[in-house]
Amino acid sequence: MAETRDTVILGSGCAGLTAAIYTARAGLKPLVLEGHEPGGQLSITTLVENFPGWPEGIQGPELIDNMKKQAERFGAELKHGHLSHVELGAHPFKLHTSLGEVHARTLIVASGASARWLGLPSEQALIGHGVSSCATCDGFFFRGKDIAVVGGGDSAMEEALFLTRFATKVTVLHRRESFRASKIMLERAIAHPNIELRTNTIVEEVLGVEEKDVRGLKLRDVASGQQSELPVSGLFLGIGHIPNAKMFHGLLDLDDDGYIKTRDNIFTTHHGEVVPGVYACGDVQDRRYRQAITAAGTGCMAALEAEKFLEEHGH
Ligand code: NAP
Repeated sequence: MAETRDTVILGSGCAGLTAAIYTARAGLKPLVLEGHEPGGQLSITTLVENFPGWPEGIQGPELIDNMKKQAERFGAELKHGHLSHVELGAHPFKLHTSLGEVHARTLIVASGASARWLGLPSEQALIGHGVSSCATCDGFFFRGKDIAVVGGGDSAMEEALFLTRFATKVTVLHRRESFRASKIMLERAIAHPNIELRTNTIVEEVLGVEEKDVRGLKLRDVASGQQSELPVSGLFLGIGHIPNAKMFHGLLDLDDDGYIKTRDNIFTTHHGEVVPGVYACGDVQDRRYRQAITAAGTGCMAALEAEKFLEEHGH
């Protein structure tokens, strides 16, 4: 017999852990399935300077670790596991997870978003051999080497700045003329002597597939059409993320890019009708703000609504 939980939370990033703190403190003993990337994006970032309450900033992994401890202190149960598919047609919901079947009276989806890749065959062949989407995980391997970062947003700037700790030179390649990154991050990258920013440039191929080691990049200037080669030992992707919501396809309304559509921030819908008891929070439903603090905020909202739902249904 599968156990029935008041609240199951999918994901253990900032949104999921905030939902866990609130639901645990309300006595709901939430089960948190940590997912494929435990701790979410904060756990693979460096200094977080804009989370209120940390005047000097705090390391992302430390912030996440603190949230985990806080949730566990109130009785949240965190388990390594993920959802393979779910049945939302009857209540309680049936969750088919890597740990077996679990029934949930309320479900909080905080499954976040995963790194986006360029999709080039040569890039895919060299993941782990010089191609990476995580500067904090792999930057260390590029001490004294030249590397490139693709992207024009805050993630790309943050990765480039972080990678200057190891690499001798970091070339940022961006496909357009203007950047999406915030002014402060862009200015820091521009001011750094070891960072070069190249606009209107796309990567056509990663060189080194035969050697099983990145040797360089074949680039194309989109304005002039001119091709060139950039000798680098590493390529880091900082081109955004894809929401982890595939398992809800056909069950919840998703937008064109696969984000869960929400009403009033956290209420999920199916064919435009609210699905009672299923809430989405954090990056899996947020294509606009995508900040740690907004993820925490919506995690809190989802938890309060789950609590209210359970109360109204006599639990
Ligand atoms: P983003 O803002 O969506 O930027 C993604 C960048 O990658 C864009 O410049 C985009 O180019 C480029 N890109 C996307 N697909 C591409 C492709 N196939 N080939 C080449 N380039 C491609 O994503 P993000 O940088 O991960 O940031 C997400 C959110 O997190 C933002 O709200 C950001 O402010 C926040 N964030 C904040 C910090 C911080 O404050 N320290 C750090 C990291 C992230 P186009 O511009 O041409 O679309």
